[in-house]
Amino acid sequence: MVRERQEPTPEERGRLMHLWTETSHRQLEVPEEELFVVQHVQIEVPAYAPIFASVRCAVCGENVVEMRARVKDGQPVCIACASLEQGQLDRAGISTASWGVGLTA
Ligand SMILES: [Zn+2]
Repeated sequence: MVRERQEPTPEERGRLMHLWTETSHRQLEVPEEELFVVQHVQIEVPAYAPIFASVRCAVCGENVVEMRARVKDGQPVCIACASLEQGQLDRAGISTASWGVGLTA
């Protein structure tokens, strides 16, 4: 857990860069057999992801997956446009101008 982030001194930054470089060069010397396991395996190919129909947002014109669209005045709207019209409670209070913050599913 980071409790207090402090900027490193130039000496600390230089030491870190040196350690990164050393570690990177050491990794290049590790034999492939120690880094990787190469073998034939049997895998089950996952099913294709389902494809859902899209509808066009009546406000901004962007396509949105039908199941994610909201309905306003009988027209489909995207989440961002829907959230502009709805009051939304966030740390600043109730606002109507936040673009879908917290509404992504
Ligand atoms: Zn929209």
